[in-house]
Amino acid sequence: MSDIIQLLPDHIANQIAAGEVVQRPASVVKELMENAIDAESTEVEVIIKDSGRTLIQVVDNGKGMSETDARMSFERHATSKLRKADDLFNIRTMGFRGEALASIAAIAHVELKSAIPNAAIGTKILVEGSKIIDQSPCSCPVGTSISVKNLFYNVPARRNFLKSENIEFNHILEEFYRVALIHYNVGFSLYHNDKLIYKLTKSTFKSRIVNLLGKSYNEKMATIGQKTDFLSITGYIGKPDIAKKTKGGQYLFVNRRFFKHPYIHNAITRAYQELIPDGYYPSYFMFFDVDPKTIDVNVHPTKTEIKFQDEKLMYAVVHSTTKKALAENSLTPSLDFDTDNSFNVDFLPKDYPIKQPTIQLNPDYNPFKSQVPSTSSYKKEPLSERDKNNLENWTKLYPPTNTDFESSTNTEITQTSITQNNHKEAVSYGTFFQLYQSFIITKIKSGLIILHQNAAHERVLFERFLKRIDSNQTSCQHLLFPVTIDLNAADAEILKEILSELSKIGFEISEFGKNTFLVNGTPPDLTTVNIKEEMEHWIDSFKNNMMLSSLERKVNVAMSMAKSLAIKSGKILTSEEMETLTNEIFACSIPHESPYGKKTFKIISKEDLYQYFN
Ligand code: ADP
Ligand code: MG
Repeated sequence: MSDIIQLLPDHIANQIAAGEVVQRPASVVKELMENAIDAESTEVEVIIKDSGRTLIQVVDNGKGMSETDARMSFERHATSKLRKADDLFNIRTMGFRGEALASIAAIAHVELKSAIPNAAIGTKILVEGSKIIDQSPCSCPVGTSISVKNLFYNVPARRNFLKSENIEFNHILEEFYRVALIHYNVGFSLYHNDKLIYKLTKSTFKSRIVNLLGKSYNEKMATIGQKTDFLSITGYIGKPDIAKKTKGGQYLFVNRRFFKHPYIHNAITRAYQELIPDGYYPSYFMFFDVDPKTIDVNVHPTKTEIKFQDEKLMYAVVHSTTKKALAENSLTPSLDFDTDNSFNVDFLPKDYPIKQPTIQLNPDYNPFKSQVPSTSSYKKEPLSERDKNNLENWTKLYPPTNTDFESSTNTEITQTSITQNNHKEAVSYGTFFQLYQSFIITKIKSGLIILHQNAAHERVLFERFLKRIDSNQTSCQHLLFPVTIDLNAADAEILKEILSELSKIGFEISEFGKNTFLVNGTPPDLTTVNIKEEMEHWIDSFKNNMMLSSLERKVNVAMSMAKSLAIKSGKILTSEEMETLTNEIFACSIPHESPYGKKTFKIISKEDLYQYFN
């Protein structure tokens, strides 16, 4: 058989390599911005059309390229940043592989214009699918402008695979943040569809964070800093009260390169352990300066993973520095876990007198009597016709009877009632019973029902909000003192888009200057919540949902709102609240699961119970 192996033509090899480097429009934004930084620009302009499908253009005022370099820059493995193998261990630039421009040019129409200082004239090059189709002199300012049009024009599968405009733009924003945050000494602007989204002038790290992510970060960050012989850490950590349930706001940089590192993330979150609830993420912006020899940035082509020489040592330093910063800013509780050795009895001398703890008992305490006044932000809503029908259907299945549902006022237990009822079907301590501050247990005709309070309430609120959006029957309660909310530009865009859905739910929100909003009114059934915090929380949920699937906008609004406003596990409920929630879940059209697909209740039938003990 004759030889069959051939070298792939360059344009095919480039297209294959492009798959690694350019996954979506945001990847192009990242590569072009990083090239602008490497060229020592002081002003970088990013221009996007249709979330990058139509145009991604980055214009810089950096050192530019000569005519030959401009042509060379589109060759694979063509770079000015590495000369010899050793340089690979001394990388201070963002790029070094020489792959990005070649990859981008393989799958798009690219126009490059560049001029170097003191040159009379610049160069313009047009490339389509790796082929240079035109090169000519042009007059342009010192620096480089690269326009990428019709991305993935020759890779239809990739193009069709792109998500909605919103999702792709969010990815672009994230890349923009990663570069712009740490290069705070450079000015950046970002345009989307001819609209100026960000105009950032050269500033400090802190101002850059605030300008990018919103004014609310201003008072909510504490400084962090540490210098050792192998590492210097500078930056900011978010105060515990801005920790969020969704990821976002976690930024690590090493030698001005954004990176992700679950191990270091853990070192930071562990320092917050006692300060924020489980499952919450603190925000942090940390900048590590290390000798480039001690890191390996060559892990993955998209280069967000970094390997450190001594990861354990890094972990220890980052963890203790974070703890120190929290303590110095009085963000830890007054009893610091570091110094509190009261349980370390091993360290005590053998004959050390150990005082027995005493426990105060309240003889009048009745655990089944509600101890807390109703402080819930959640009120019962009158049932509509459809709800009533639903409820009827449910009660047919599980009809309460006199012996099953006892009146909620009958919550006292006495010794006599227990003995008297000994041989009856059951002793009821009260109709509703809360377990682990997470579950509601109540008896129904056919047995026992256990409701998950959070999942069930999410379902109730979701259907309620969706119904309001559909029905146009808004009622709004005006606030005596309107609440001002500052958002970052991206979140502000999202809020503007969904203002009409929100007003149907019962919010009255008006725009109040750039990225600032005024909440004048809220739905009458949600009066006591911390509006500002909730608003940030549900915009996060909204964004998260948006990334995961292409939900209809109103469904996403109702879902994210329900998620953020639903009663959480850990909240003590009154008998009345438990009863209301139980009734309302059965009035829902899909009562058995939350809008996020979690189960809302479990029924243990009388038969199962008897069978079990048989
Ligand atoms: P890398 O950045 O890994 O070197 P790229 O493909 O991104 O590879 O770029 C190839 C080369 O083109 C760079 O090494 C640099 O010399 C040149 N280049 C790219 N973009 C710019 C720019 N904006 N300004 C000046 N030179 C640039
Ligand atoms: Mg590059």
